[in-house]
Amino acid sequence: MSVLIVGSTALDSIKTPKAVNPRLLGGSASHAAVAASFFGPVKLVGVVGEDFPQRYVQLYKRHRIDLRGLQTLPGKTFHWAGEYEANMNNRRTLKTELGVFETFNPTLPEVYRDAPFVLLANIAPALQHHVLNQMRRPRFVAADTMDLWLNVALPDLLKLLKRLDAFVLNDSEAQQLTGEDNVFVALKKIHRLGPKYVVIKQGSHGSILSGPQGLFICPAYPLRKVVDPTGAGDSFVGGMMGYLAAAKGPIDRHIRRAMTYGSVVASFCCEGFGLQRMTRVTRGQIDGRVKELERLTRF
Ligand code: AMP
Repeated sequence: MSVLIVGSTALDSIKTPKAVNPRLLGGSASHAAVAASFFGPVKLVGVVGEDFPQRYVQLYKRHRIDLRGLQTLPGKTFHWAGEYEANMNNRRTLKTELGVFETFNPTLPEVYRDAPFVLLANIAPALQHHVLNQMRRPRFVAADTMDLWLNVALPDLLKLLKRLDAFVLNDSEAQQLTGEDNVFVALKKIHRLGPKYVVIKQGSHGSILSGPQGLFICPAYPLRKVVDPTGAGDSFVGGMMGYLAAAKGPIDRHIRRAMTYGSVVASFCCEGFGLQRMTRVTRGQIDGRVKELERLTRF
């Protein structure tokens, strides 16, 4: 089954203590779509400007991502610039230039509207609503967000939460949304806002699911070297949704393994700048790391 993914399609300029890389392919939807593509068909919804390099279109195509929902408009591609501190965890946004995203108001291709799995990756909640409004009867809808939308679009985000099956956010966003430092109390409070499944990401400490079957603690893959963590959260949720869409049977039977796959795909994302490492990974390498995680966490 296919996954429809909407989010940002961006050029990212990333600075770490070791290197500077301008205008890499980035954006929440790009990272999530490549991650999901290891498991099954992906339909991308996004917009780029006339400056979007052709080699990035080819990259999407190599991952067999359906691009009928990717528009090119006059103007500039969304550009984000960020800088990491030496610990590679703290990040500062240097620039956010919305470009063609400012006026993006997509009409989905007819063939997109029946996609059973929908991932509303990080982008303005109004756009997430707009895309969801055009879907016929999705089986499972998940969304991600970021602190910016909690600050500037909270009413839209709260409305969106009532329409979701799963909400995925990181620990600082959960704290900001609920006013709770304790992650387990925060999970309970977020359920009350709507979603049946809530996943809180904790970076290199893994993630926690709260759902109908209770809690699941998902480990992060132990990486010794992080080159660039940009897009790790998007890769996590993209991998998780891709795995779920490919699995047959009830969500509850697969969601724990789906998160573990998401966690492993995110680990590969951190090993290269932008999507550089991800585009060279094989399904066999992903399965190998999942097996390792199983060994590391069994007792
Ligand atoms: P993550 O590291 O998972 O937080 O995601 C980083 C990605 O989010 C980058 O590829 C950026 O292009 C994208 N991004 C940054 N700011 C925004 C924004 N305001 N809206 C949508 N995507 C963004």
